[in-house]
Amino acid sequence: ATGPVYNFAAGSGTMPGEVLCQAREELLERGRSGMSVMEMPFTGEAFQAIQRQAVQDLRELLDIPDHYQVLFLQGGASAQFALLPMNLLPRGGRADYLDSGYWSRKAMAEGGRYARIRVAASGAAYGYRCIPRQAEWQLDPDAGYCHITSNETVDGLAYSWLPDTGGVPLVADMTSDFLSRPLAIERYGVIYAGAQKNIGPAGLTVVIVRDDLLHSARPETPSVFNYRVQAESEGRFNTPLTYAIYLAGLVFRWLKRQGGLSAIAARNRRKSERLYEAIDASQRYVCRARQEDRSPMNVCFDLADASLTAEFLAQAQRRGLLHLQGHPARGGVRASLYNAMPEQGVDALIEFMRDFAA
Ligand code: PMP
Repeated sequence: ATGPVYNFAAGSGTMPGEVLCQAREELLERGRSGMSVMEMPFTGEAFQAIQRQAVQDLRELLDIPDHYQVLFLQGGASAQFALLPMNLLPRGGRADYLDSGYWSRKAMAEGGRYARIRVAASGAAYGYRCIPRQAEWQLDPDAGYCHITSNETVDGLAYSWLPDTGGVPLVADMTSDFLSRPLAIERYGVIYAGAQKNIGPAGLTVVIVRDDLLHSARPETPSVFNYRVQAESEGRFNTPLTYAIYLAGLVFRWLKRQGGLSAIAARNRRKSERLYEAIDASQRYVCRARQEDRSPMNVCFDLADASLTAEFLAQAQRRGLLHLQGHPARGGVRASLYNAMPEQGVDALIEFMRDFAA
């Protein structure tokens, strides 16, 4: 391609160019520290200031109340699939899971090794084209937590509403829509997200946990993954992901410069609505997801003539529209529109889709 290149990958996803430029500027020396952030001892004041600022900026962006801890852990969201039951439930404890697609099933498969898991409702009967409405949910009032996947990266589904789980703590895997919109944090017990979509480099994992849930970890929980231990040591029980935390901090700053999460949410809505409209307006493209459950982050669709999918992807790539193939488990096309995807990228995709259809 000769023009600009847009990365529609689901993860790792596209990063804000400004952030990458700043990281390049500071790669060899951050401020007057005499060294790269990568070389800073995590116990030193220079790194601790970076870490404190990142936590502070995230708290401001999401309006996180004081009785929630912000942790930057390692291992990705998949590690949390096991660490949630270890941190929140006694051995043999019970948890409810909402089965809305590929990633909730992954969370259940791993969580089920450490807990007795019940499916409160499942989208399976609907072919995962929608998220079961609250009226269909059967909740266990004695469950230790109820787990949802706020955005199904593979299936292209997202909650447009907040479930009511009564007194049972709501736990959400927000890996693919974290920081895409404001949140009512106090409705959640735990929120977790892998960083590689809207935050920064893969491996870094943000966990936001309500104080009263810090004290139920099983004794055998590894200390580095014990929410209370990490909260009490301010995330420095062992060497944290120093460079990834620095990059995440740059992204948080960038988000603030964009006007915060309300502004970002409005822009994200514009981007996805425009693309869904283009899909719906054409006979050549089909989006199977129920309208109100369509993900603003991962727009999944198919070509009406599926035999043209490979050609569609090849031509898109030649136009600089990269990584549009659907997840192998689903096929078809997937355009991931994370925060850093500019509106021009969506316009370029829509223009290509019109040309291809013609
Ligand atoms: N949950 C969701 C919703 C995801 O999209 C992903 C990654 N695509 C994961 C969990 C797994 O994340 P990780 O690779 O960081 O373990």
